Amino acid sequence: MEDEQGLSAETWLARALGRHDGATGGVVPAIHPATTFLRAGDLSYPGGLVYARPDNPGFAAAEALLSRLEGAAESLLFASGMAAATALFQALSPGDHVVAPKVMYWALRGWLKRFAAQWALEIDLVDMTDTAALAAALRPGRTKLVWVETPCNPTWDLTDISAVAGLTHGAGALLAVDGTAATPILTRPLELGADIVMHSATKYLNGHSDVLCGTLSCARKDAFWERVAGVRRDQGGIPGPFEAWLLLRGMRTLALRVERASANAMAVARHFSAHPRVAAALYPGLESHPQHALARRQMQGGFGGMLSLRVAGGERAAIATAAALKLWTRATSLGGVESLVEHRASVEGPDSPCPPDLLRLSCGIEAASDLIADLEQALERAGAGVGAGVGAGVGK
Ligand code: PLP
Repeated sequence: MEDEQGLSAETWLARALGRHDGATGGVVPAIHPATTFLRAGDLSYPGGLVYARPDNPGFAAAEALLSRLEGAAESLLFASGMAAATALFQALSPGDHVVAPKVMYWALRGWLKRFAAQWALEIDLVDMTDTAALAAALRPGRTKLVWVETPCNPTWDLTDISAVAGLTHGAGALLAVDGTAATPILTRPLELGADIVMHSATKYLNGHSDVLCGTLSCARKDAFWERVAGVRRDQGGIPGPFEAWLLLRGMRTLALRVERASANAMAVARHFSAHPRVAAALYPGLESHPQHALARRQMQGGFGGMLSLRVAGGERAAIATAAALKLWTRATSLGGVESLVEHRASVEGPDSPCPPDLLRLSCGIEAASDLIADLEQALERAGAGVGAGVGAGVGK
């Protein structure tokens, strides 16, 4: 590996830290499909590797690049974002107390509630925009983990990582941050006091909607981190070698993609924030957003590619708008180069805090003018009743 110190993130990302294939001199690292490694007659392992569940040479380049991005002591790849997040909670002990947000990635919230009941974890869901609510929920000595997601899905409210880290550490607990929407380009939670940062690498880190992957990165390799690594080793929730290789390829363009997606989201949010067919544009980059000052402090270089529009006319109008879109792809997920739209409430179900008139938009890297024009025509058609009712199956 070359000495990449002193270079800016765009540079060492594009160069993937300058790693080359040692065996051939190939400028792109090799894919390592082997699941098992040679053992010598004296029972030693000459390559230092034994078996691919604990030892996977194909992960090293992506894990090192992510650690550099996050300022982490170590990073681990997992089979998915859910595999990463659930490994963290599975490293806790029965009886431990956990605080998590009311508004967060819905599938993880649902799993956490079920797992807490099975594993005898005590869990409180709080409004993480309100640090007083978190302070009231913390139980010093009993609370072991505080989980936050910022900006959070699908309202894109922010959590003040520094403030929450202070409260969490004061109670003797660890702070873990789901940084999927912000990406380490815009927010580096470990620098703000968090202990662990998680990404659904399926989203921006890979960026092309063709890899399922998750990551955890730690500030310190302490006993809890060893337990997390043990969950991965024993359960084998790891990506395949090709997925790890694709992730590294995707990460090389992360800075460019995030910059463009953020600029597109800002343009879309600005355009529709005062639109007669839009009740509200939810985007932390808007000066009118109640947490804009925090967003400016906590997010550097942009406010991310995710926003939501609350459509005037309610749920029917929102579904009809999604149905009338031609360029935005109706699909779940986020963070790819192509723009996606989703009527989120119909995905999350009846116990969701998501408003029924909300369309979640993941801005890709297309021309902002094309994205805006498509939304304009869809809102117009939906408002005129064209296509109303067509979108009943949007989302799932
Ligand atoms: N966290 C956030 C914010 C997400 O949006 C998602 C997936 O949509 C996940 C975690 C879970 O990631 P994965 O789908 O890779 O398991």
